[in-house]
Amino acid sequence: MNFINTIFTNFLQFLPKWFVKPFAKPYVAGIKTEEVLKTVKDLNDQGFSATIDILGEFVNNKEEARTVKDQYSQIIRAIKEKGLDSTISVKLTHMGLDLDFTFCKNLMNELCQEAKICDVGITIDMENSPYTSNIYKIYKSAAEKFEKVGAVMQAYLHRSIDDLKSLNNSNLILRICKGIYNEDPSIAIKNKKEINKNFKLLVQTILDGDGYACIATHDIKLINEIDEWISDKNISKDRFEFQVLYGVPMAKTLNSLKSKEYKITVYVPFGSSWYDYSIRRLKENPKIISYVLKNIFKK
Ligand SMILES: Cc1cc2nc3c(=O)[nH]c(=O)nc-3n(C[C@H](O)[C@H](O)[C@H](O)COP(=O)(O)OP(=O)(O)OC[C@H]3O[C@@H](n4cnc5c(N)ncnc54)[C@H](O)[C@@H]3O)c2cc1C
Repeated sequence: MNFINTIFTNFLQFLPKWFVKPFAKPYVAGIKTEEVLKTVKDLNDQGFSATIDILGEFVNNKEEARTVKDQYSQIIRAIKEKGLDSTISVKLTHMGLDLDFTFCKNLMNELCQEAKICDVGITIDMENSPYTSNIYKIYKSAAEKFEKVGAVMQAYLHRSIDDLKSLNNSNLILRICKGIYNEDPSIAIKNKKEINKNFKLLVQTILDGDGYACIATHDIKLINEIDEWISDKNISKDRFEFQVLYGVPMAKTLNSLKSKEYKITVYVPFGSSWYDYSIRRLKENPKIISYVLKNIFKK
């Protein structure tokens, strides 16, 4: 299936946007800010929290990075003004990490100050491995000034458990996910069972300590195993939440988690870069093609 996916993905990039749109549409909450805010309101009305992501990464210059930051600032203010239950999720290469570390760190600090005033949380997404160390450095600096900033840890990376130990502090907010990039076997676990084992270890380490765990996965077996551990350990509901990506059909599992009064956050991406972003993600991880097709036929 992987081979077919790869051929299909390579073929996809030569097709016009109107053809690719059906693949991206269920997972992207529109192009304009008003569209994403409306989606977040709908999710809130259904009992979900949200986190808003402006699609994109790797800007060409500092002006572009600042424009992205300003757009996030506008969203932060709108979240406050409209009383929405939402945080934001940012990719640091979208705010210039690839161009200038210090510039990006300062921009992130500015964003944190604005988020602090509006009391809106921020999660710094994790990108591919050349950026891991710098992303954690910027996270650490931001977390010293703003208590509602979190980072992401990828269960497929061998280094993650050490990173977790070095990040551990009383304000720790960490989203644990499996990891989406195609990393080299020298640094990343490739076996699904082993990734899941590490995922559980990371979540348990956070919850055995003082941190807050965002459990970001659609793997129902994994969710159930973690839920069982959480119940056995009697972990307080204000120490963790489950997170899913917008558009991934998870109704049954989410309803069951909701019935236990767990917090559930939906990650909602939007923006004009949906096409480039979707193609890049599909090329990076052709497995998504089979998920999308499977989900289309499930409906
Ligand atoms: C809230 C959130 C934030 C994330 N942030 C990051 C990040 O910052 N950095 C990073 O590297 N990765 C991030 N990811 C992606 C993550 O690393 C995984 O690549 C992705 O979630 C798929 O893994 P899984 O845990 O769902 O398990 P899998 O075993 O891959 O999938 C389990 C099942 O979920 C369904 N599914 C999974 N993904 C999709 C999809 N995209 N479309 C349709 N169905 C799907 C399929 O039915 C699949 O069988 C994030 C994921 C979530 C949920």
